[in-house]
Amino acid sequence: MKTLQAVRGMNDVLPEDSALWQYFERTVADLLTTYGYQQVRMPIVEPTELFKRSIGEVTDIVEKEMYTFEDRNGDSLTLRPEGTAGCVRAMLQHGLLGGGVAQKVWYNGPMFRHERPQKGRYRQFHQIGVETFNLTGPDIDAELIVLSWRLWQRLGISNAVKLELNSLGSAEDRARYRDDLVAYLQARFDQLDEDSQRRLASNPLRILDSKVPETQALLTDAPKLADYLNDEARAHFDGLRALLDEVGIPYVINPKLVRGLDYYGLTVFEWVTDQLGAQGTVCAGGRYDGLVTQLGGKPAPAVGFAMGIERLLLLIETLDCVPAELARQVDVYLVTLGDVAARAGLRLAEQLRDALPSLRLVVHAGGGSFKSQFKKADKSGALYALVLGEDEVAAQQIGFKPLRSGEEQETLSWQDVPARLAESI
Ligand code: ATP
Ligand code: MG
Repeated sequence: MKTLQAVRGMNDVLPEDSALWQYFERTVADLLTTYGYQQVRMPIVEPTELFKRSIGEVTDIVEKEMYTFEDRNGDSLTLRPEGTAGCVRAMLQHGLLGGGVAQKVWYNGPMFRHERPQKGRYRQFHQIGVETFNLTGPDIDAELIVLSWRLWQRLGISNAVKLELNSLGSAEDRARYRDDLVAYLQARFDQLDEDSQRRLASNPLRILDSKVPETQALLTDAPKLADYLNDEARAHFDGLRALLDEVGIPYVINPKLVRGLDYYGLTVFEWVTDQLGAQGTVCAGGRYDGLVTQLGGKPAPAVGFAMGIERLLLLIETLDCVPAELARQVDVYLVTLGDVAARAGLRLAEQLRDALPSLRLVVHAGGGSFKSQFKKADKSGALYALVLGEDEVAAQQIGFKPLRSGEEQETLSWQDVPARLAESI
């Protein structure tokens, strides 16, 4: 029989890789906690309507990337392609956005998009997202960038990422700009690539980040969004830039950065790297003041970002920034010979766990000779083996064997083991 495979583009995280995931998730969670952000956990499945109304009907995600299905009641449901829409839905549903109360939250979990799988691009991938509500900025826009910068520093990758920044202005600014851009490109319609020709009618701003060189050349003399910003939008952008200068975070302004989703306005930003080939954006976000009303709530300004965990882990590995201590997952390996020793061993192991709660102690299971057990102990990466045979049990002693140095095995009495381990590990 053919063995079953995972769905294409959906990956398993195997035991040898999960320590890096845990390290990453722990680092982000700890950092966000120190900035006063609290986690929300939303369902993975949402009504399809939510994504249509938030991300926008004529975006890549909604047009061709969503996993949408009918459940047994005939309701149209979708595996979430991103977290912002569900997060806003949850905050609204539970009345957390009312009264202008500031909210700072984050989420972590799988997202689903039917894209062409390749390095750094999968059909199930994972994001940690951060969202804030009822804060108009630009101070909060700056905080989000500052805390992500601190995260890159903690992870050791700050030299390999750079910040790109743009302002999309207000909805009216974008509407005026869109008209002029469309007029400009309409006059040059035949020179546009096919995708851009299609987008001209549906989502013309997305033409700005077309990868086609001829289209890019055409855009050189096109109207610039920056020239359409009203005074308020310009002040917001200048304010953000001043704050980034204040804390010394370098950035480049990318006037063609528009982001693929409909809900963004004013600030947009991306952290990009040149270390991962075509999939260079590791973190992206922006301000979405209109989304809450679009989803039926009272106005609540918002700004947030999401980082792609797989791409960041690839970057950490590429840069050799995996902390050395992750390589070893076991401190001590207990080997026993015979039933009497196995029983005493279990009791002793539990006493050790009482005394040293963070001790990573593996109790050998499955029996076997000392020789075969020592092989397993060695392979586990443990620093020490504890060796218990019937004679040791009778004498209330245990063998203490260093596995990573040439030192001799010692004999310890049971009550001395916790102190000895505490000083050695
Ligand atoms: P891209 O331009 O690479 O398609 P995007 O603009 O669609 O990215 P966002 O929706 O902003 O991405 O998601 C935020 C982050 O999530 C991205 O910067 C990236 O790190 C990650 N990401 C997005 N799509 C994928 C995917 N299919 N596989 C892995 N990571 C992804
Ligand atoms: Mg995409």
